[in-house]
Amino acid sequence: MSAPQLNGTITNSKAPLPRRDGVADRVASETISRLQRGILRLALAYHGRSPDLDKKLKEMGGLVRAGRRDALLQRLIDEIVSTIVALDLEPAIGGATAPASVTPAGPEQPDLLHHFFDHLQLPPALLLEVERVRKRIAAKSNTAELLEQVEQASAAISERLALAADNRRSIDSARQSLLDLIDRIPVSRNLASEAAQLRRTIETIAGPEEIRPCTTALAQLVGKLREEMQAELDRLAEFLRGTARRLQEFEQVMQRSREMYAESEADALQLSETICVGVREVRLSVGEADDLDALKVLIESKLEVIDNGLTQFVSSQSVRAAEAGDVIERMTHRLKDLEQQALHLREDLEVQHARVLMDPLTGILNRAGYTEMASKHFARWKRYGGALSLGVIDLDLFKEINDRYGHAAGDKVLATVASKLKEVIRESDVLCRFGGEEFVLLLPETSVSDARTMLEKLRNHIADCPFRHKDTPVRVTMSCGVAQFQATDTIDSVFERADLAMYAAKQGGRNRVCTELDPMPEAAPAHD
Ligand code: GH3
Ligand code: MG
Ligand code: MG
Repeated sequence: MSAPQLNGTITNSKAPLPRRDGVADRVASETISRLQRGILRLALAYHGRSPDLDKKLKEMGGLVRAGRRDALLQRLIDEIVSTIVALDLEPAIGGATAPASVTPAGPEQPDLLHHFFDHLQLPPALLLEVERVRKRIAAKSNTAELLEQVEQASAAISERLALAADNRRSIDSARQSLLDLIDRIPVSRNLASEAAQLRRTIETIAGPEEIRPCTTALAQLVGKLREEMQAELDRLAEFLRGTARRLQEFEQVMQRSREMYAESEADALQLSETICVGVREVRLSVGEADDLDALKVLIESKLEVIDNGLTQFVSSQSVRAAEAGDVIERMTHRLKDLEQQALHLREDLEVQHARVLMDPLTGILNRAGYTEMASKHFARWKRYGGALSLGVIDLDLFKEINDRYGHAAGDKVLATVASKLKEVIRESDVLCRFGGEEFVLLLPETSVSDARTMLEKLRNHIADCPFRHKDTPVRVTMSCGVAQFQATDTIDSVFERADLAMYAAKQGGRNRVCTELDPMPEAAPAHD
């Protein structure tokens, strides 16, 4: 096996495990729920635009009020964000005249936000700030400005809350929430390095004052992505407008060819009449003729009339044929042109769609891709039964690689690990980069014990892979957790069990595979 070249060495010491953020104290949980409310505030700006969205908003409101911040809420938030993005795009596709971002806000939106702020029950220190935001929002007349204000308010409130609850745990929670957010953004190739840089900045957040610049940068990144999407939609709209213009042109050509056909029919009728009349007159003249010379002159004059009629008919037919030929040629070109444009557009759209689901660093599916594929496999498994398992893979002590050899070396490891894993998995297995140095593997038609075997194979493949930095061998290992879908499961509940098993593998010393059937370590935190 050839050694993937990195830029450094690695040790695999059994360092103490960092605690996962599952056990949140009261302040941390307050911060998270307030961040969730921030999302709710953004979502409220869209209230009334779709019954489906309204239903989801209501459901989310119920969950937030009930203090839920589990996978169900997370999924709901994801769905709401997707619905909002889809809603935002609708007018641009349908109307093709005004981008969604300048759609006038519904008159009820500021009222709704006011109502919502009233129910936030914010600490007194924030009331003044909220009042100022409220006034600014009241002065805004369109969704784009309104959202901008709400987003700013959300960031300001998060910052104040972080300041108010200045302790380690709340900073950890805020950092984790921001990492979760950035992992969910489908970055384009253009923005991949900016996103990676921002992720690193978020990872190093150490104090409350560092949160705001990160939320601002995150909002700017989302803004740029939306601009890219908007540019694509503008192109689509322009194409559709061009197509409409061309269809009109085709319609005119059809009309002209119908006219030419009618003209041709009229000319043919005229010719046939000229011939009939000429022949009849000749026949009459022959019957009545007593002078051969006079008859000859008469017949010649009649034949000349017929001949003229024929010549005229042939010439106007050939003029029409030439015109039709020109038109056909022009239209053929136009059609080819149109086909070509449609092909490019379709290819672009396919690339765009793939981009949304792909991780640019490793070339495998990203978290959005995982969500889409997990839903597909889950639906198929529900319908046809059989076995479906899920593996969570987390690289061991990966922070050390970054710390020792820099992020470029870390990135190289991530890309190499992904391609090495792909060498072993079956075509029907689905490998995704869930975020950071964490991967998820969906294993259709695979029981938990077969899945363990597969994950062991993958683990060995990576552990045996002779990574090198310059001439120094670099050991890269991974810990894996496996769970199998059961009748009462959701995608998230299986993921949580696999994640817990992965955590057990870490606790057990790393570089190992655990399944949900293995005993869990005593100190394993509750996952919520
Ligand atoms: P453990 O064995 O407990 O999983 O330890 P760990 O160091 O792997 O885990 P920890 O969560 O402490 O650190 C994860 C590291 O992964 C920190 C972060 O900088 C790094 N990371 C996440 N995403 C990327 C990335 O895209 N590129 C690089 N180079 N590093 C990344
Ligand atoms: Mg790790
Ligand atoms: Mg990790």
